[in-house]
Amino acid sequence: MCVFCKIVAGEIPSKKAYEDDSVLAIYDINPQAPVHIVFMPKEHILTCADDIDASNAEIISKIFVAIAKVAKELGLSDGYRIINNCGAAAGQTVQHIHFHLLAGKEGMSESMI
Ligand code: 5GP
Ligand code: ZN
Repeated sequence: MCVFCKIVAGEIPSKKAYEDDSVLAIYDINPQAPVHIVFMPKEHILTCADDIDASNAEIISKIFVAIAKVAKELGLSDGYRIINNCGAAAGQTVQHIHFHLLAGKEGMSESMI
């Protein structure tokens, strides 16, 4: 089981920012910005953005709906970034698709994730 599947299963503790039937968002254990939340599907169905197609677009849409909801709840009106690291060369370390939400002064720097 991958680390995010273990978090979804409750085997590894996490600080949750959002949860519904199919989406989980957790505060990153190694934050790269004042606000750094990772959004993922609960099911381990895709590795990264490269795997997105019409057959699985619904869960991706749900993730982005959740991101917008959390961004509003947290009052990120100064702006934020959404990042998917796809592949090792892009810095991907967990092979369970996820999107980083980064906000705050440091999150706006050129050095991301
Ligand atoms: P990636 O580098 O694959 O795009 O992002 C994986 C992210 O997961 C990293 O930012 C890393 O800090 C975070 N991460 C890895 N293991 C854990 C964990 O056990 N708990 C939490 N909350 N975040 C984790
Ligand atoms: Zn997984």
